[in-house]
Amino acid sequence: MLVSTQSLVYIASALLFILSLRGLSTQESARRGNTLGIVGMALALLVTCVALTREGADHPAAMPAAYAILAAAIGVGTLVGAVLAARVAMTSMPELVAVLHSFVGASAVLVGMASYLEPGQPRSVVHEIEVFAGVFIGALTFTGSIIAYFKLRGSLGGKPLLLPGRHLINAAMVAACIYLGVLFTGAEAPAGLTYLLIMTGISAVLGVHLVMAIGGGDMPVVVSLLNSYSGWAAAASGFMLSNDLLIITGALVGSSGAILSYIMCKAMNRSIWNVVFGGFGAAPSGGSKAAKTEPAGKVTEANVEQVAQLLLGARSVIVVPGYGMAVAQAQHPTKTLTEGLEARGIEVRYAIHPVAGRLPGHMNVLLAEASVSYDIVKEMDEINADFEKTDVVLIIGANDIVNPSALTDVDSPIYGMPVLEAWKAARVVMLKRGMAAGYAGVDNAICYNDNTLMLFGDAKKSIQALASRLAADDKAG
Ligand code: NDP
Repeated sequence: MLVSTQSLVYIASALLFILSLRGLSTQESARRGNTLGIVGMALALLVTCVALTREGADHPAAMPAAYAILAAAIGVGTLVGAVLAARVAMTSMPELVAVLHSFVGASAVLVGMASYLEPGQPRSVVHEIEVFAGVFIGALTFTGSIIAYFKLRGSLGGKPLLLPGRHLINAAMVAACIYLGVLFTGAEAPAGLTYLLIMTGISAVLGVHLVMAIGGGDMPVVVSLLNSYSGWAAAASGFMLSNDLLIITGALVGSSGAILSYIMCKAMNRSIWNVVFGGFGAAPSGGSKAAKTEPAGKVTEANVEQVAQLLLGARSVIVVPGYGMAVAQAQHPTKTLTEGLEARGIEVRYAIHPVAGRLPGHMNVLLAEASVSYDIVKEMDEINADFEKTDVVLIIGANDIVNPSALTDVDSPIYGMPVLEAWKAARVVMLKRGMAAGYAGVDNAICYNDNTLMLFGDAKKSIQALASRLAADDKAG
C-alpha cells in the first residue's frame, strides 16, 4: 500500500513540476507556476519523510539519528536558501544560480560514491554505469559552476583561457574517463573506487578547463548550460537511488536548461557547440566597461524639455528597455512616465528582446516588479513590424538589441542576431550615460541617425525628470 501511495504522490509531484514549468512560460501565469512548483516539492519532501519512517520501522534504534540528520538538512537548507533568495539583487541572480548548480553537482558525486560503497547493494553493470555517469557529470558540474560563479563575480579574469590544443586536451580527458569507466565496471566493489576517484579528479579538471575557456561576459549562457548538466546529474542520482521522481525532475531540469541555452544562443547568434566545447566569447566582448569603440559620427543631443515635448506630441510610443534600465533601476519611474502618457491618450507599449539585459526574462521581471500591465509588454516578434508606424521610441539603457549593424554589417560581431528595429520609428530617443558600447563592444549606428536624439545621463534620473515634467504639465493644465 505504501509503495502505491508513494508512487501516486510522486506522480502528483511530477505533474505539478510539469505544470509549474508550463506556468513559468508566460508572465501572467509565472506566479501560479512558482506556487505549483513549491507545492510539488513540499509533497515530495513529505512523502520522502513518510517513506523514511516506514523503512526505519525495522531499525527503531537508528531512527532518532536519521530524523535528526533529515531535520538538520531541511532546516539548514531552508534557512540558507531563504536568506540568499531574499538578499540577492536581480543582476546577481546568475551568480546565485551558479552556486546552486555546484551544490547539485557535489551531491551527485557524493550520492554516487555512497551508492557504490553501500554494503549489501546488489551489484550490476547497469548500476555501476549509473554511478560512474552520475559522478562524472556531477564533478564536471561542480567545478564548472564554481568557476562560472567566480567569473561572474569578477574574482577571476573575464578573459577566456585558450590553451594551445585545448580541444585535444578535452578529448584526451574524456577518453581517459571512458577507459577508467571500463576498468571500473570490470572491477569488484570496493576495488573500483580507485578508478572512480581518479575519474572524479579528471572530470573536475575538465569542468574547470571547459568553463575557463569561455569569456566572463558570456557566463549567463554557460550558467544555463550548467543548469542543464545539473539536471542530468540529478537524474543520474535518481537512477542510482531508484527514485522515479528524482529521475523525472532531473530530466525536466536537464532538458529545459538545454532548451534555454539553445534559445539564448540563437537570440545572440552564437553556436551552442561553442558553449559545450568551450572557447566561447573569444572575440572581444564583456560589457560596456570593457570594450568601447570610437564614436563613428556626430550625435544630436537633447534635453529633458525637448524629449518631453516630443513625447507629448506623439500618438504612439514604444519603450525599449535594456541592461542600462536594470543598472539604473529605472523601472518604477518608467512606469510612472508611461502612465502619464497613457493618461493623455497616447498609446504606449514595451518591446522586449529575448536577450535584453543579462539573463533571460530580465526585463520581464523588472517590469513585473514595477507592476507594468502585461497587456502592453510585447515580445520582439509581436512588435517588430510596428516600429515604422510609431511616433517615438524611447530606448532606455539598451544598445546591442537595437543595433542595425546586426542586420547590415557582415563584419559585425553581432551580425545575424535578430534585433528590435527601433530606427524605423519617426523619432528615436536614446537614454544612456555616454557613448559607451554595450555588451558586445560594438558601436551603434542608431545613435548617429538624423531621427535619433540622445538624452545623456543615468536612466533613472532622466526618466524621473521626464515624469516630473509631465506632472508639472498636469498641474499647470
Ligand atoms: P547592452 O549591454 O548592449 O547596452 C547597455 C547600455 O546601457 C550600454 O550601452 C550603457 O551605455 C547603458 N547603461 C549602462 N548603465 C546605464 C545607466 N545607469 N543609465 C543609462 N544607461 C546605462 O544591453 P542590451 O540590453 O541592449 O543588450 C544585452 C546584451 O547582453 C546583448 O548583447 C546580449 O547578447 C547580451 N547577453 C544577454 C543575456 C541574456 O540572457 N539576457 C546573457 C548574456 C549576454 P553607457 O555606459 O554609455 O550608459
